[in-house]
Amino acid sequence: FLTLAIESSCDETSAAVLKNGRQVLSNIISSQIDVHKKFGGVVPEVASRKHVENIDIVIEKALEEAGVTLKDIDHIGVTYGPGLVGALLVGVSTAKAMAYALNIPLVGVNHIEGHICANYIEHKELEPPFLCLIVSGGHTHLVHVKNYGNYDILGRTRDDAVGEAFDKVARAMGLGYPGGPIIDRLAKNGDAEAIEFPRVYLEPESFDFSFSGLKSAVLNYLNSQRQKGLEIKEEDVAASFQAAVVEVLVHKAIKAAKLKNLNTIVLAGGVAANSGLRESLYKEAKKEGIYLKHPSIKLCTDNAAMIGCAAYYNYMNGFISDLYLNAIPNLKLGERKL
Ligand code: ATP
Ligand code: MG
Ligand code: FE
Repeated sequence: FLTLAIESSCDETSAAVLKNGRQVLSNIISSQIDVHKKFGGVVPEVASRKHVENIDIVIEKALEEAGVTLKDIDHIGVTYGPGLVGALLVGVSTAKAMAYALNIPLVGVNHIEGHICANYIEHKELEPPFLCLIVSGGHTHLVHVKNYGNYDILGRTRDDAVGEAFDKVARAMGLGYPGGPIIDRLAKNGDAEAIEFPRVYLEPESFDFSFSGLKSAVLNYLNSQRQKGLEIKEEDVAASFQAAVVEVLVHKAIKAAKLKNLNTIVLAGGVAANSGLRESLYKEAKKEGIYLKHPSIKLCTDNAAMIGCAAYYNYMNGFISDLYLNAIPNLKLGERKL
């Protein structure tokens, strides 16, 4: 059973071919990072145009690398939200046209569900239930994954997403875009206890997060050092900021897993690539007898293979779209507008 998957929600144009949901035959990713770098972030209109230029090419490459033709494809999966509306529409329109022309089923996929499913590709034995900590550029969720496609959101960020906080702090330090990987690298050579940044836990029973206070604290620190003409040790700022983020994430993830009696924690989303988060969560989970799983770096950030895996399980659950499928920029996890 072959899936052709398309992802264009943000600044990666990607197409993939999967066999039986979990076996990736190809996963072509065309990143626009270099295009958006000079603006310090993703410019929506530019992203849409780049998707239009690249989408046919990545689909052709994905088919070629998988060694299949369009006739072999059994269904098409595509991200229809959340994301930038113009960017999403490129993938959705392409997928609709192809599903119509080939007369095969169309399956709309939630991008965040895709991030979770990256783990099914990476870990062939992984099955629900488990606790998933989703940390991406636009989302931060603690989710009880009860079954394929069945999610109970235990907590979410009330302001900035973790990836967003990394990117904004990096931008304030003049480090470039995207900031997450740069901060990760700098933090390795810094002292995490050099600067005391706040850890925000909110109400004792809450699994929600808040990172905007931490972000402001870092910006205030940078401004005050600059005003006083004092040195800013980038490595120490990066390490101290990252430690403040990681401590709260790890604490809440372990607490939620214990509360729900889950022996596996799964990381998902771009920030799942963060080495500090992986190390600390692995160490703390081990103390509690909890397993930690995460995707390899390539599957953490946006790619179509994860969308294909989610499309496969949606299809198996009977969640199939029609040709009225539209892009939904603010689609919520667990919400279906097929
Ligand atoms: P969403 O998935 O919420 O729609 P997105 O698709 O833009 O948002 P992802 O592609 O999942 O986000 O992840 C990109 C984010 O991951 C960026 O904010 C980036 O800085 C961050 N990121 C990538 N690698 C690392 C890392 N090693 N450490 C910290 N953050 C990282
Ligand atoms: Mg991206
Ligand atoms: Fe993403």
